[in-house]
Order: sequence, then C-alpha cells, then structure tokens
Amino acid sequence: MTVELRRSSSPGETERLGAALAMRLAPGMLVTLDGDLGAGKTCFVRGLARGLGADPAEVSSPTFVLEHRYADAGGGTVLVHIDAYRIRSAHDLASIGWDELMASGDSVIAVEWPSRIAPALPDHRVEVRIRHAGEDVREIEIEDIHPSSRATHCATCGTALPSGGDARFCSDRCRMGDLGRWFRGDYAIGRPIEEDDLHGDAWRPGGPEGRGR
Ligand code: ADP
Ligand code: MG
Repeated sequence: MTVELRRSSSPGETERLGAALAMRLAPGMLVTLDGDLGAGKTCFVRGLARGLGADPAEVSSPTFVLEHRYADAGGGTVLVHIDAYRIRSAHDLASIGWDELMASGDSVIAVEWPSRIAPALPDHRVEVRIRHAGEDVREIEIEDIHPSSRATHCATCGTALPSGGDARFCSDRCRMGDLGRWFRGDYAIGRPIEEDDLHGDAWRPGGPEGRGR
C-alpha cells in the first residue's frame, strides 16, 4: 500500500496529476475520488481522460446521468466516469451495468462520492482524496489500496469461501443482500464519514470498533 501526498496550486496542476496517475493504471482499475463539492474531483478526472487518450474537454460532472463514458481516438471506451452521489439503491447500480463493468476490465473507472456505494467497491483500487488548502491550493492524496487480508468466510452468511479468491461473499445473493442493507442505512454510523470508514471492515456491523447497527 503506497500513499503519495501532492500539492496542487491550480486546476491545470490537478489535471496533470490525474494524467500522471492514468499512465500508471491498467484497464479495469477503479479510482475513487473523495472531496467536498468544488474540491477538484472532476478536474482530476479530466486529467485521467487526457492521460488515457480521451478528450479532456468532454469531461464534466455526470450530474444528470449517473455515468459518462469517454473513448480514445480509436473509439474504444477508455474511461467510465461515475457520480455515485445520486445512486440510492442496488437497482441504480445495476442500471448502469456495475457488475458487467467490474467484470469486464476494459476501461479505467473513476467514481466520485464513492462512500455512497462503499460495499460495492472492489478491494483493489486507487483512492484519491482532495482537500481544500486555500483558494486555489489543494492537497491531493493518492493511495493504492490492495486487499490486505483475504476473507475466509462470507461477510453475509458466514459460509467458508474457497481459498485463493478475493471475494468477500459466497454468492451474488449475499453480496446484493449486503448492498441492500447499506442502502437501507443499517450501517449508518451516526457521525460524519471519515477516511477510516471507507477502508476495510470499519463500517461493518460488529467491525473492529463495534460501530454500526
Ligand atoms: P468537484 O468535482 O470536486 O466538485 P470540480 O473539479 O468540478 O470539483 O471543480 C473544482 C473547482 O475548483 C473548479 O472551478 C476549479 O477551477 C477550481 N480550482 C481552483 N484551484 C484548483 C486546483 N488546484 N485544483 C482543482 N481545481 C481547482
Ligand atoms: Mg464533480
């Protein structure tokens, strides 16, 4: 797990950091973007698009649709840009073809407001966190997250999982059940979401700090 901390003093600089990260990403990799409104998440995604060979000018927040897809000069989709802010249910996720997207591995996937869909995020991802640090200054943290320990039992029903895999659930049914509980608010933690909540099992009922339910 590596963490990089960068400082950006202009939108152009943030975009360049995005482009630099894109060069290091394999297709299929998921990048989450955390930060307040106006932090520069979409600006960073513009850089990802540039680095992947798509037209950065086409990138805008997918405010009225849940996702945008950007192609390179060859016409292949190289970047899928999702704004999870308005995703309210497992059904919304299914409507954008989330499972197919996760399985296909064809393009880089960028997700703004990832905490909305935390249980659906793959364990291996790159987290980008952007903080205001002055008018045009931003602190940008880029963390490469690898599954630290493989789950041995299904997080929903407790069935033993086959060894060697990186799944947390024994079946789609259990995974969707977990997601359903998340959207119903069973995992509500009763305080502002903090970075730690977005990692590992901290938000699970009976998780390490006994939060939830
Ligand atoms: P978000 O998607 O996080 O809501 P946007 O990328 O849409 O944010 O907008 C960021 C805004 O902040 C833009 O208006 C941009 O011009 C401005 N800005 C100022 N300084 C920076 C910087 N260093 N990096 C990124 N954006 C910046
Ligand atoms: Mg945005």
